[in-house]
Amino acid sequence: MSEARVIRIMCPNLGCQRILAVPSHARGKLVRCRSCTTNIRIPVMRDPAIPRNLGLKDESAIDAA
Ligand SMILES: [Zn+2]
Repeated sequence: MSEARVIRIMCPNLGCQRILAVPSHARGKLVRCRSCTTNIRIPVMRDPAIPRNLGLKDESAIDAA
C-alpha cells in the first residue's frame, strides 16, 4: 500500500544542497528546487549511480574519513 513512494535527492547546487522529496512517479523528469530554482533530473534507478566496480567500498570509505 505504499505506491506513493518518495525519492529524496540533494540539490546539486553547491550553494543550496537542500534535500528534496519528490514522488516516485517523477523519475526521469525534471523538478525545480524550491530553494534555488535549479532544475534537477530525478534518476530513474532507485539507487542512483552506484557502479558495480565500486561495490565493496561503500560505507567503509565514509568511516575512514
Ligand atoms: Zn537548490
